[in-house]
Amino acid sequence: MLIGGALYEATSGETFKTRNPFSGEVIATVQAASRADVDAAVAAASQGQRAWAALSGAARGRVLSRAAALIRARRDEIARLESLDGGKPIQETPMADVDSGADCLDYFAGLAATIGGACQSFGEGGDTPWFYTRREPLGVVGGIGAWNYPFQIACWKAAPALAAGNAMIFKPAEQTPLSAYILAEALTEAGLPAGVFNIVQGDGRVGRMLTTHPGIAKISFTGEVNTGKAVMADSAATLKTLTLELGGKSPLLVFEDANLDDAVSAALLANFYTQGQICTNGTRVFVHETVIDAFLARLLPRAEAMVLGDPLDPSTQMGPLITPEHHGRVLAHIAQAIADGATLLTGGGVPDDPALAGKSFVRPTVFRTDDDNLPLCRQEIFGPVMTVLSFADEDTVIARANSLPVGLAGGVMTRDMTRAHRVAARLEAGVVWINTYNVTPVEMPFGGIKMSGMGRENGRAALEHVTRIKSVYVEPGHVEAPY
Ligand code: NAP
Repeated sequence: MLIGGALYEATSGETFKTRNPFSGEVIATVQAASRADVDAAVAAASQGQRAWAALSGAARGRVLSRAAALIRARRDEIARLESLDGGKPIQETPMADVDSGADCLDYFAGLAATIGGACQSFGEGGDTPWFYTRREPLGVVGGIGAWNYPFQIACWKAAPALAAGNAMIFKPAEQTPLSAYILAEALTEAGLPAGVFNIVQGDGRVGRMLTTHPGIAKISFTGEVNTGKAVMADSAATLKTLTLELGGKSPLLVFEDANLDDAVSAALLANFYTQGQICTNGTRVFVHETVIDAFLARLLPRAEAMVLGDPLDPSTQMGPLITPEHHGRVLAHIAQAIADGATLLTGGGVPDDPALAGKSFVRPTVFRTDDDNLPLCRQEIFGPVMTVLSFADEDTVIARANSLPVGLAGGVMTRDMTRAHRVAARLEAGVVWINTYNVTPVEMPFGGIKMSGMGRENGRAALEHVTRIKSVYVEPGHVEAPY
């Protein structure tokens, strides 16, 4: 682990292994934290945070932007590690993981010097009372990551928190524990004081050591809805503030006037990028009944032509799922959907290619149904499984789109811009894309509503979630007391 700016031997005596999802080989054996190790991380972070917060925003920004440059210089190495540890195609990881993480560090580096308060006086005379606000760091922030975007998640959590003068203790997901070290190395080389960014490793038990720790002011969590609820419940004892980036079952609405080739491209991106293991995926694709046949005729050949293979092969478009256990869960969802009567249009199982036999691959899968109540249409599968449904009118499809308890994202494909903005306004989602899908620039706030979470990452909005406001009232005159 990494505590107080140095590699640290865990005291739990427990280790776990991280494997290459393609080959099954063990990449590394990782030490798991004990409670005493987490205490040590909190102590180091508290100390580091005081020194870090004492610097000007501009000075903190310089460190973050140097770290971004160091990360860009190691782009190929980090991309390769993400593909090795997470099974993601090397076609994706340089941009979607490394550039996205570096952009985030650069963005919050630029904003660090702008973080401040406001002041207002209660009259024009120089002797009137006034107040000012201070936007202060929270202290020590615990970051808990998911396995689907390990490097990006570490950067998205660390960059705004550090820009605002907090320290962070980051726990990667057990399946992908490695790339966070490269972020730590870049930050250290860039001049980050010891203790400001720490890494503890382990499973959900170590996550709970963070969520229950009285020395941690905030938890920024990415993961499943049910884990998010546990994080919230555990954080209640010490009333931590929370950012929860949770799961979804997002709708993509394709209207009759949409450019169908673009709609198909959006649906493919919304379901099969990163093997479908993306929280915002538009897994419920509602297509207007007058164009659904034409849509499917263009969609299915493109889904069937996708290249599955070794994530490190540049021609591979889809790698294996993260673990054999997750593979089994996704196949079980598919079997359930077939048993429930959904029509399987393509995919639905493992590929025939003998080179991929026994590995955790799932062919790009498309179901057709109009039964919104099937588990297929209600549960997050987190694999390459798209469901296409038909609709006839706007009001009904919006009601169907909004019918689930989650509300992470959504998409609208139409050439009618009045309709596009009207539908975007009515969708119950934290992020809506018009005529594209799954584009997440750092400038744009990101996060869900309803049971998809709270708080925002990215954009200026993220800074509100890693700072608190103190109001200072100043009385230049005398205190009037009635007694
Ligand atoms: P997960 O099982 O909920 O785990 C997420 C993290 O929480 C892991 O580091 C996990 O540790 C840890 N954890 C488990 N139990 C915990 C507990 N009781 N207290 C504190 N931490 C605990 O999620 P996942 O399978 O890694 O990721 C997939 C999920 O993440 C999907 O639902 C996806 O939609 C969601 N996601 C959301 C976003 C977003 O921005 N909204 C982005 C990416 C992913 P271990 O895994 O090491 O046990």
